[in-house]
Amino acid sequence: MRFHIMTLFPEIFNSYMNESIMKRAVEKGIIEVNIYNIRDFSNNKHKKVDDYPFGGGAGMVMTPQPIYDTYKHIIDTHNIKEPRVVYLTPKGKTHNQTIASDMSKLDDVILLCGHYEGIDQRIIDLIVTDEISIGDYVLTGGELPALILIDSISRLISGVLNQDESFEEESFSNDLLEYPHYTRPREFMEMTVPDVLLSGNHKKIEEWRNDESVRITKERRPDLYKKACK
Ligand code: SAM
Repeated sequence: MRFHIMTLFPEIFNSYMNESIMKRAVEKGIIEVNIYNIRDFSNNKHKKVDDYPFGGGAGMVMTPQPIYDTYKHIIDTHNIKEPRVVYLTPKGKTHNQTIASDMSKLDDVILLCGHYEGIDQRIIDLIVTDEISIGDYVLTGGELPALILIDSISRLISGVLNQDESFEEESFSNDLLEYPHYTRPREFMEMTVPDVLLSGNHKKIEEWRNDESVRITKERRPDLYKKACK
């Protein structure tokens, strides 16, 4: 799967994509991450990418030309016929595991990171297919949201996680939150690991984990629990 990122701050992506599971996924060739600096595509002699909003008001708005030209460059270079272009925005649909799972089946996703007050509406009307928010709060730019999308989508692609890192039992996989984990030592500050986990009885362990998942979901996310019961 190929991610194509349109951003004014390409450096932000290097550190995260060069660590841990994301790095391994890129090295294995399972995901490809191409980063495009929107400023490089500006026709303005000073490489300007923003301007004052028509109608007045605070802040600057990203101008359409550099974004459109970046987009054209991406789809032409990679021969993308039906581009999925995600604009990260607080006005979008809130991201979740179902969206991540659906997107993990795509070959190409173009991620558009806004900055300042956002981008010219005509770009949204012209090229954006999905508007996604990562939550009800406002960040300074779309770069962190884009990384969140890349991470949540990538780990659902076959081969990205090792067998022992499987996502199938993780939170949200069946509308339940995950059960608690314990590791060595057996006793820590007079707190012990539940006996069942040391019993070697796999059926009992599975039952305990399922019960814990249900208990935690019911307590913390009654909305999810209701969904899981359907
Ligand atoms: N004026 C915009 C509004 O009120 O909806 C907020 C603009 S924000 C300061 C700048 C950029 O950060 C946005 O264009 C978007 O790309 C990104 N952004 C901020 N919060 C976000 C969120 N919760 N989810 C996704 N992207 C977000």
